[in-house]
Amino acid sequence: MIQDSNKAVTIGQPPILASEQRRGLHIILFDKLFIRLPAFQTAICREHSTAVTAKSVASHVDLQHCFLAPGDRRRIVEEASALQDDGLLAADVDSIRFPNKIIPAIDGLPIWRDGKKCLQCGYIRRTRQHIQRHCRLEHGWVNPRGRGGKPGARLAGGLGEAWVDGVYCQRLGQTGALQRLFEVVLPASEKGEGQGESDGQGRGRL
Ligand SMILES: [Zn+2]
Ligand SMILES: [Zn+2]
Repeated sequence: MIQDSNKAVTIGQPPILASEQRRGLHIILFDKLFIRLPAFQTAICREHSTAVTAKSVASHVDLQHCFLAPGDRRRIVEEASALQDDGLLAADVDSIRFPNKIIPAIDGLPIWRDGKKCLQCGYIRRTRQHIQRHCRLEHGWVNPRGRGGKPGARLAGGLGEAWVDGVYCQRLGQTGALQRLFEVVLPASEKGEGQGESDGQGRGRL
């Protein structure tokens, strides 16, 4: 821990600038750390591949970017507040506009190609258990294999009656509501190479 002689800089200190002063604040440091996604009212940390909001940016930079000078971190928080004032950054997670249709893959986030999408409502999970549970609870789906069904009794195309497998998907972060998966299309440049084998987490596969 670096003990800064400047006692005024403590975690939890609100931004000092009044809202009218924040307007027109030049966004400099924020853009060095984050990729702005104004359409979704959020921004993605270039280093940690997670979305932030005006509210979460302070704890994100204090915890994950603690090597930055305290003044720089405070400046980033102020820039985030200015972006919020300009309607470019959500106040909190509840105000993020999650993608509700298929979008081009978002830069800076891992892409998975094993998404399982519910045919009835578009909900996506990456494991068979989770999507089965969703279809059962939300849509009254009945597993055609029945209880203890034999693995060999698989229907053609898997149990694909209720969902479709192999959907490219991303998520905005690793916690809470940010984990919600949404469908994406790969950039043309990535389609041929590697078949989208960019499982950034290397886990969760069944
Ligand atoms: Zn970060
Ligand atoms: Zn559904």
